[in-house]
Amino acid sequence: MALAGLGLTRTFHQGETTVRAVDGVSLTVDAGELVVVNGPSGSGKSTLLHLLGGLDRPDAGRVLLEGEDLSRLTERQLALVRRRRIGFLLQFFSLLPTLTVLENVALPLLLDGASHARARAEEALRRTGVAQRRAHRPGTLSGGEQQRAALARAIVTNPAVLLADEPTGSLDSASGQRIFELLREVAADTGVIVVSHDPRAAGYADRVVHLADGRVVVPEPHAPLASSRPR
Ligand code: ADP
Ligand code: MG
Repeated sequence: MALAGLGLTRTFHQGETTVRAVDGVSLTVDAGELVVVNGPSGSGKSTLLHLLGGLDRPDAGRVLLEGEDLSRLTERQLALVRRRRIGFLLQFFSLLPTLTVLENVALPLLLDGASHARARAEEALRRTGVAQRRAHRPGTLSGGEQQRAALARAIVTNPAVLLADEPTGSLDSASGQRIFELLREVAADTGVIVVSHDPRAAGYADRVVHLADGRVVVPEPHAPLASSRPR
Protein backbone atom coordinates (compact mmCIF):
# COMPACT_ATOMS: atom_id res chain seq x y z
CA MET A 1 0.00 0.00 0.00
CA ALA A 2 1.58 3.27 -1.09
CA LEU A 3 -0.85 5.57 0.75
CA ALA A 4 -3.86 5.05 3.00
CA GLY A 5 -6.16 7.67 4.45
CA LEU A 6 -8.30 6.11 7.17
CA GLY A 7 -11.43 7.77 8.57
CA LEU A 8 -10.24 11.27 7.74
CA THR A 9 -12.19 14.24 9.06
CA ARG A 10 -11.37 17.93 8.72
CA THR A 11 -13.56 20.74 10.02
CA PHE A 12 -13.19 24.43 9.23
CA HIS A 13 -14.73 27.33 11.10
CA GLN A 14 -16.10 30.10 8.92
CA GLY A 15 -17.32 32.77 11.31
CA GLU A 16 -20.34 31.35 13.14
CA THR A 17 -20.65 28.29 10.93
CA THR A 18 -18.71 25.06 10.97
CA VAL A 19 -17.93 23.29 7.71
CA ARG A 20 -17.06 19.62 7.82
CA ALA A 21 -15.09 19.68 4.56
CA VAL A 22 -14.02 16.02 4.85
CA ASP A 23 -16.21 13.73 6.91
CA GLY A 24 -14.94 10.23 7.68
CA VAL A 25 -13.27 9.48 4.35
CA SER A 26 -11.10 6.43 3.79
CA LEU A 27 -9.13 6.23 0.58
CA THR A 28 -6.14 4.10 -0.39
CA VAL A 29 -3.88 3.86 -3.41
CA ASP A 30 -1.38 1.15 -4.32
CA ALA A 31 1.80 1.55 -6.31
CA GLY A 32 0.79 0.99 -9.92
CA GLU A 33 -2.72 2.32 -9.39
CA LEU A 34 -4.42 5.50 -10.59
CA VAL A 35 -7.42 6.64 -8.55
CA VAL A 36 -9.60 9.51 -9.73
CA VAL A 37 -11.56 11.51 -7.15
CA ASN A 38 -14.45 13.53 -8.50
CA GLY A 39 -17.34 15.48 -7.06
CA PRO A 40 -18.90 18.94 -7.28
CA SER A 41 -17.13 22.13 -6.30
CA GLY A 42 -16.93 22.39 -2.51
CA SER A 43 -17.30 18.65 -1.95
CA GLY A 44 -13.95 18.46 -0.15
CA LYS A 45 -11.67 17.16 -2.89
CA SER A 46 -8.81 19.61 -2.35
CA THR A 47 -9.06 19.34 1.44
CA LEU A 48 -8.83 15.55 1.16
CA LEU A 49 -5.77 15.80 -1.08
CA HIS A 50 -4.10 18.20 1.37
CA LEU A 51 -4.69 15.73 4.22
CA LEU A 52 -3.35 12.81 2.18
CA GLY A 53 -0.27 14.78 1.20
CA GLY A 54 0.53 15.99 4.70
CA LEU A 55 -0.10 19.64 3.80
CA ASP A 56 -2.83 19.76 6.42
CA ARG A 57 -3.57 17.60 9.45
CA PRO A 58 -6.90 15.82 10.05
CA ASP A 59 -9.05 16.37 13.16
CA ALA A 60 -9.66 12.63 13.19
CA GLY A 61 -8.30 9.68 11.25
CA ARG A 62 -4.83 8.76 10.07
CA VAL A 63 -2.68 8.90 6.97
CA LEU A 64 -0.20 6.08 6.37
CA LEU A 65 2.46 6.71 3.74
CA GLU A 66 4.31 3.49 2.94
CA GLY A 67 3.08 2.28 6.33
CA GLU A 68 4.36 5.33 8.24
CA ASP A 69 1.78 7.27 10.26
CA LEU A 70 2.17 10.93 9.28
CA SER A 71 0.57 12.10 12.54
CA ARG A 72 3.61 10.82 14.43
CA LEU A 73 5.98 13.11 12.54
CA THR A 74 7.11 16.54 13.62
CA GLU A 75 6.54 19.42 11.17
CA ARG A 76 10.18 19.20 10.17
CA GLN A 77 10.05 15.45 9.50
CA LEU A 78 6.78 15.88 7.63
CA ALA A 79 8.31 18.54 5.40
CA LEU A 80 11.07 16.09 4.45
CA VAL A 81 8.59 13.29 3.75
CA ARG A 82 6.54 15.62 1.54
CA ARG A 83 9.62 16.66 -0.41
CA ARG A 84 11.05 13.16 -0.86
CA ARG A 85 8.11 10.76 -1.00
CA ILE A 86 5.15 12.79 -2.31
CA GLY A 87 4.81 14.55 -5.66
CA PHE A 88 2.28 17.35 -6.07
CA LEU A 89 0.78 18.58 -9.33
CA LEU A 90 -1.63 21.51 -9.16
CA GLN A 91 -3.92 23.29 -11.60
CA PHE A 92 -1.47 26.19 -11.92
CA PHE A 93 2.06 25.13 -12.65
CA SER A 94 3.85 27.19 -9.99
CA LEU A 95 7.20 27.12 -11.74
CA LEU A 96 9.69 29.78 -10.68
CA PRO A 97 9.82 32.29 -13.55
CA THR A 98 13.46 33.30 -13.21
CA LEU A 99 14.87 29.77 -13.28
CA THR A 100 15.19 27.61 -16.37
CA VAL A 101 12.94 24.61 -16.83
CA LEU A 102 15.84 22.31 -15.90
CA GLU A 103 16.60 24.31 -12.74
CA ASN A 104 12.93 24.19 -11.71
CA VAL A 105 12.86 20.41 -12.06
CA ALA A 106 16.21 19.91 -10.32
CA LEU A 107 15.20 22.11 -7.37
CA PRO A 108 13.68 19.41 -5.10
CA LEU A 109 16.88 17.38 -5.49
CA LEU A 110 19.17 20.37 -4.97
CA LEU A 111 17.33 21.25 -1.73
CA ASP A 112 18.19 17.77 -0.48
CA GLY A 113 21.79 17.88 -1.67
CA ALA A 114 21.03 14.82 -3.81
CA SER A 115 23.67 13.70 -6.29
CA HIS A 116 23.24 13.82 -10.07
CA ALA A 117 20.45 16.40 -9.73
CA ARG A 118 20.94 17.74 -13.24
CA ALA A 119 21.01 14.33 -14.92
CA ARG A 120 17.96 13.16 -12.99
CA ALA A 121 16.07 16.34 -13.86
CA GLU A 122 16.89 15.81 -17.55
CA GLU A 123 15.64 12.24 -17.32
CA ALA A 124 12.36 13.41 -15.73
CA LEU A 125 11.96 16.00 -18.49
CA ARG A 126 12.52 13.28 -21.09
CA ARG A 127 9.79 11.20 -19.49
CA THR A 128 7.32 14.07 -19.81
CA GLY A 129 8.48 15.04 -23.30
CA VAL A 130 9.84 18.54 -22.66
CA ALA A 131 13.60 17.88 -22.46
CA GLN A 132 14.15 20.04 -25.55
CA ARG A 133 12.86 23.02 -23.52
CA ARG A 134 15.26 22.50 -20.60
CA ALA A 135 17.24 25.72 -21.10
CA HIS A 136 14.17 27.96 -21.51
CA ARG A 137 12.38 30.03 -18.88
CA PRO A 138 8.90 28.69 -18.05
CA GLY A 139 7.25 31.87 -19.36
CA THR A 140 8.31 31.05 -22.90
CA LEU A 141 6.60 27.63 -22.84
CA SER A 142 2.97 26.82 -23.71
CA GLY A 143 0.61 25.95 -20.85
CA GLY A 144 0.78 22.27 -21.72
CA GLU A 145 4.58 22.33 -21.74
CA GLN A 146 4.68 24.15 -18.39
CA GLN A 147 2.41 21.53 -16.86
CA ARG A 148 4.63 18.76 -18.25
CA ALA A 149 7.64 20.52 -16.68
CA ALA A 150 5.70 20.71 -13.39
CA LEU A 151 4.97 16.98 -13.71
CA ALA A 152 8.68 16.32 -14.26
CA ARG A 153 9.42 18.26 -11.07
CA ALA A 154 6.78 16.21 -9.20
CA ILE A 155 8.31 12.87 -10.23
CA VAL A 156 12.00 13.80 -10.15
CA THR A 157 12.42 12.45 -6.60
CA ASN A 158 10.76 9.15 -7.60
CA PRO A 159 7.96 9.63 -5.04
CA ALA A 160 5.79 6.86 -3.57
CA VAL A 161 2.67 8.79 -4.48
CA LEU A 162 1.71 11.56 -6.86
CA LEU A 163 -1.22 13.77 -5.85
CA ALA A 164 -2.75 15.91 -8.60
CA ASP A 165 -5.43 18.56 -8.01
CA GLU A 166 -7.30 19.49 -11.21
CA PRO A 167 -4.11 19.09 -13.26
CA THR A 168 -5.89 19.77 -16.57
CA GLY A 169 -8.06 22.63 -15.27
CA SER A 170 -6.16 25.37 -17.08
CA LEU A 171 -5.17 23.45 -20.22
CA ASP A 172 -6.63 23.11 -23.69
CA SER A 173 -8.17 19.77 -24.60
CA ALA A 174 -5.15 18.21 -26.35
CA SER A 175 -2.70 19.31 -23.65
CA GLY A 176 -5.03 17.95 -20.97
CA GLN A 177 -5.23 14.59 -22.67
CA ARG A 178 -1.42 14.44 -22.84
CA ILE A 179 -1.27 15.05 -19.08
CA PHE A 180 -3.72 12.21 -18.40
CA GLU A 181 -1.65 9.89 -20.62
CA LEU A 182 1.52 10.85 -18.73
CA LEU A 183 -0.18 10.37 -15.34
CA ARG A 184 -1.18 6.89 -16.52
CA GLU A 185 2.49 6.19 -17.36
CA VAL A 186 3.65 7.53 -13.98
CA ALA A 187 1.16 5.16 -12.33
CA ALA A 188 3.14 2.20 -13.67
CA ASP A 189 5.31 2.30 -10.53
CA THR A 190 3.74 5.01 -8.35
CA GLY A 191 0.41 5.43 -6.58
CA VAL A 192 -1.42 8.28 -8.33
CA ILE A 193 -4.48 10.15 -7.04
CA VAL A 194 -6.04 12.66 -9.41
CA VAL A 195 -8.75 15.06 -8.29
CA SER A 196 -10.59 16.12 -11.39
CA HIS A 197 -13.99 16.98 -12.73
CA ASP A 198 -12.70 16.60 -16.27
CA PRO A 199 -15.07 13.96 -17.73
CA ARG A 200 -12.14 12.27 -19.50
CA ALA A 201 -10.32 11.50 -16.23
CA ALA A 202 -12.34 8.35 -15.46
CA GLY A 203 -11.17 6.83 -18.74
CA TYR A 204 -7.61 6.73 -17.36
CA ALA A 205 -8.55 5.47 -13.88
CA ASP A 206 -8.31 2.06 -12.27
CA ARG A 207 -10.91 3.29 -9.77
CA VAL A 208 -13.15 6.35 -9.43
CA VAL A 209 -14.19 7.66 -6.01
CA HIS A 210 -17.08 10.13 -5.80
CA LEU A 211 -17.22 12.76 -3.07
CA ALA A 212 -20.29 14.75 -2.03
CA ASP A 213 -20.44 17.01 1.03
CA GLY A 214 -17.17 15.60 2.30
CA ARG A 215 -18.21 11.95 2.09
CA VAL A 216 -17.56 9.09 -0.29
CA VAL A 217 -20.81 8.29 -2.08
CA VAL A 218 -21.90 5.54 -4.42
CA PRO A 219 -23.42 7.36 -7.38
CA GLU A 220 -27.06 6.65 -8.28
CA PRO A 221 -27.24 4.28 -11.22
CA HIS A 222 -28.58 5.80 -14.44
CA ALA A 223 -32.35 5.67 -14.88
CA PRO A 224 -32.46 2.82 -17.44
CA LEU A 225 -30.38 0.61 -15.15
CA ALA A 226 -32.46 1.53 -12.13
CA SER A 227 -35.72 0.68 -13.88
CA SER A 228 -34.41 -2.73 -15.00
CA ARG A 229 -33.35 -3.66 -11.48
CA PRO A 230 -35.44 -6.31 -9.70
CA ARG A 231 -37.60 -4.76 -6.99
P1 ADP B 1 -13.34 21.17 -3.60
O1 ADP B 1 -11.88 21.04 -3.82
O2 ADP B 1 -14.09 19.87 -3.79
O3 ADP B 1 -13.95 22.26 -4.41
P2 ADP B 1 -12.59 22.11 -0.95
O4 ADP B 1 -11.91 20.97 -0.30
O5 ADP B 1 -11.75 23.21 -1.49
O6 ADP B 1 -13.59 21.56 -2.06
O7 ADP B 1 -13.59 22.77 0.10
C1 ADP B 1 -14.56 22.01 0.82
C2 ADP B 1 -15.28 22.94 1.80
O8 ADP B 1 -14.37 23.34 2.81
C3 ADP B 1 -15.82 24.19 1.18
O9 ADP B 1 -17.05 24.49 1.81
C4 ADP B 1 -14.77 25.24 1.52
O10 ADP B 1 -15.35 26.51 1.61
C5 ADP B 1 -14.28 24.76 2.86
N1 ADP B 1 -12.85 25.10 3.08
C6 ADP B 1 -11.79 24.57 2.42
N2 ADP B 1 -10.63 25.06 2.89
C7 ADP B 1 -10.96 25.92 3.89
C8 ADP B 1 -10.20 26.75 4.79
N3 ADP B 1 -8.85 26.77 4.76
N4 ADP B 1 -10.88 27.51 5.67
C9 ADP B 1 -12.23 27.48 5.73
N5 ADP B 1 -13.01 26.72 4.93
C10 ADP B 1 -12.39 25.95 4.02
MG1 MG C 1 -10.61 21.99 -5.19
